Amino acid sequence: MTAEALQRMLQIDRLGAPLFVSWQLTRDCDLACVHCCTESAPGKPMTGELGRAEALALADDIVAEGVPYVMLCGGEPMVVPHFPEIAERLGAAGIQLKIETNGQRFDTAMAQRLAELPVRSVQISLDADSPEIYARQRPGASLAKVHAACRAVRAAGLPLEVTFAPTRLNIAELPAAITRARELGAFRFNTGALMRIGNAAKNWRKLEPTAAQYETFRAELDRSARAGAGEMELAYLPFRMEDGLRQALDEPPATLLVLPNGRVKASAALPYLVADLRRHSLAQAWQRYCDAWHGRTVRDAMARAIAEPASHAGATALQELAPASADPEEGGHP
Ligand code: SF4
Repeated sequence: MTAEALQRMLQIDRLGAPLFVSWQLTRDCDLACVHCCTESAPGKPMTGELGRAEALALADDIVAEGVPYVMLCGGEPMVVPHFPEIAERLGAAGIQLKIETNGQRFDTAMAQRLAELPVRSVQISLDADSPEIYARQRPGASLAKVHAACRAVRAAGLPLEVTFAPTRLNIAELPAAITRARELGAFRFNTGALMRIGNAAKNWRKLEPTAAQYETFRAELDRSARAGAGEMELAYLPFRMEDGLRQALDEPPATLLVLPNGRVKASAALPYLVADLRRHSLAQAWQRYCDAWHGRTVRDAMARAIAEPASHAGATALQELAPASADPEEGGHP
């Protein structure tokens, strides 16, 4: 990494706050999916998760900084008792919301409550059309509940998007899942190559689709995109995580990724923690994030993540990143 690259002005340097906060409210989940990138499971919150009062204070800070768009996710946000309060605190201030859920507990009452807020979308996992295959990938999950959740979203007038994580178990289900998503009224179908993070990394040999499977998968996505243009967007590019990371290395996203304990990560693909929202304001966290992206450690690690996708497996081994300004080897903020 050259000094010039480290000092180059980035688009994030021109912003006083993130444009998007991806906030994992908990690591706890009512499922234990074989591919889960956050290694979530029932009764397994992260140590030191923010409590209700701390989470509401963070919501107020997000409002005060004028962040326009927040995603509430997990783990499973529906297992967090104060989830509706957080959504309402943000939504009342006009912040656009995206909610990511597995759909197991998402009912009509919740859909109607969220319909009062500026919700840009509710995203539900729809990785199969066969209940048996769905339950193999997501042990304990009911596909019928997922369908009911999708219908509740649409009945409340909320925009629905779905996500499909391909593994060796479910990849052949793609055409049926696309048809089902259209029938359920989704406006977008999100997919791409399986990310090698968390449980997926641990189970990689059993889960990674073969090259032939991926070829068929891509061909089906291309065919469906052509056939259904205008009905439902098929979002699958960049297809591999490393392609998205290449873009991020060039221009880091204006996104803060907040973990359940209030720590902020430099990137989903990297293990580095750049701030602690128990100690830092959102404005300070944003500055530290921007500084981190001018630092040699993050940029070299990102270059490595692009060149060696297997290294993504280390993204959950969280570690502190020294502030850029404290390390003369780090680039520093221009
Ligand atoms: S993939 Fe989603 S639903 Fe499955 S265990 Fe992880 S957080 Fe829960």
